[in-house]
Amino acid sequence: MKENTHDFLKAVQEELPEVTVLRREEERLIYAHGCYPREYKWLLQGPYKVLPEAILMPGSTDEVSRIMALSQEYSVGVIPFGGGSGIVGGSIAENHEVMLDIKNLKEFEINPVNCTAVGGAGLTGADFENMLNEAGYTCGQYPQSFQSAVLGGMVATRAIGTFSTKYGKMDDMVNSLEVVLPNGHVLNTHKTPKASTGPELDQLFLGSEGVYGIVTKVEMKIYPVAEKRYFEAFTFNRTEDGLEAIRQFVQNNVHPAVVRLYDEEESVPKMEKYGFEKGHVFLVIGYEGLEKQVDLEREYVHHYCALNGGVPKGPKPGYDWFHSRFSTKKMLDHDAMKGGTADAIEVAAPWDCIADVWREMRKALEPMCESVDCHFSHVYHTGASVYVIFHAQTGGDDYDGEKRYMECLDTAIRTSLKYGGNVSHHHGSGKAKAEYLPLEHGEAGIEVMQKIKDALDPKGLVNKGVLGL
Ligand SMILES: Cc1cc2nc3c(=O)[nH]c(=O)nc-3n(C[C@H](O)[C@H](O)[C@H](O)COP(=O)(O)OP(=O)(O)OC[C@H]3O[C@@H](n4cnc5c(N)ncnc54)[C@H](O)[C@@H]3O)c2cc1C
Repeated sequence: MKENTHDFLKAVQEELPEVTVLRREEERLIYAHGCYPREYKWLLQGPYKVLPEAILMPGSTDEVSRIMALSQEYSVGVIPFGGGSGIVGGSIAENHEVMLDIKNLKEFEINPVNCTAVGGAGLTGADFENMLNEAGYTCGQYPQSFQSAVLGGMVATRAIGTFSTKYGKMDDMVNSLEVVLPNGHVLNTHKTPKASTGPELDQLFLGSEGVYGIVTKVEMKIYPVAEKRYFEAFTFNRTEDGLEAIRQFVQNNVHPAVVRLYDEEESVPKMEKYGFEKGHVFLVIGYEGLEKQVDLEREYVHHYCALNGGVPKGPKPGYDWFHSRFSTKKMLDHDAMKGGTADAIEVAAPWDCIADVWREMRKALEPMCESVDCHFSHVYHTGASVYVIFHAQTGGDDYDGEKRYMECLDTAIRTSLKYGGNVSHHHGSGKAKAEYLPLEHGEAGIEVMQKIKDALDPKGLVNKGVLGL
């Protein structure tokens, strides 16, 4: 351990005796990785490449603030660590960093008049939602990693859940934030519903993946638990027909909570399971809200689906999706397999090129993979996102698996950019996708991001290298 890190840890223990400090090798190994597919390969390749020097577990904003001030004084790199479910290499301690585990920040308070709730950045999505449900509310945020991802991590990556068409994404759900800056200063963004007092500072930290500071508290918009919830399925001749139906109802301001259109290949097991038409595609729609609102939304969804050849298939397949919605077994099994690899690449594109992005990404990845699954599950007024989930098996060892992963990632992102899509819709960029960001933001965009980084963190100590900063 370097001398400055040793002195820093000594100072933390003297000044903040309540802060837990973990230093044992097995503890450092647990915190050395998230869920980035290359990290699975590194775990299987032998002794792990890099371990954090130690893990600090503060229990309050004040403790986070004092740790950050000390890290500046001793020039020690810090990586904030939430649920560890990030899949883009956003917490790789390759510069002898110390991890700052924020999961002990767990406060919770509802404001029923403003319809907001403040949660500590360490509450998991599931903890937060369960406490809201007990009081008769929901925030509508259900990412597949709901049981592990925490509020701070979801802010840091601009996460999104399956009910996004109604409730929006993390960037829409946040009303205000508390953030500890790299120098230890505490920023509280305003709580008013709108302001014309300069840029919205929340948006600077949403998606900043820790490079500009540590999120410690999140004020979320909340809603009364829905009076009615209903799921159903449709089939269409082609993916393009399903996309057209969705575009039409969303652009007419019809917003069912869940919209999931599977392409021809990913639909196959579902069509076989229910005995639906071979070669057609499968759409799940979920509604929730006031009873009459749900009924009216259903009426309009049926109208636009029928206009595009959609055939209603009843509620059962929709409810089946709902009950299995947190399963990610197929993808994680491939990552754990010798020589195997898998990932879910999620990109967004405007409506006028989303079908090209989907088609070309699938075509480019197929020769390199055992299977490619594609679906569209987040839709907007001006466009949509597509998940392109690849599973590859090299038949070789875990170095081959890692190499194939890098080839697939590069192919997927370059194809998305070529046909009008972006680098990432909601998983973030971490270190995995950082090299592609100049292709999306341009030189001037990266210059703005870097200058903000230099101003807030002149020594470059917090999450060094993430987002390429
Ligand atoms: C099986 C699986 C399913 C997934 N499904 C979804 C999904 O449906 N939707 C979705 O959006 N994502 C999904 N993800 C990705 C992941 O869950 C999200 O990126 C999530 O928001 C990460 O939260 P976390 O708390 O685990 O963050 P971590 O993995 O701990 O951290 C992610 C990044 O944020 C930084 N960070 C963490 N906490 C803070 C903080 N308090 N302040 C500042 N920076 C911080 C970290 O340094 C790191 O760079 C999935 C991942 C897996 C493995």
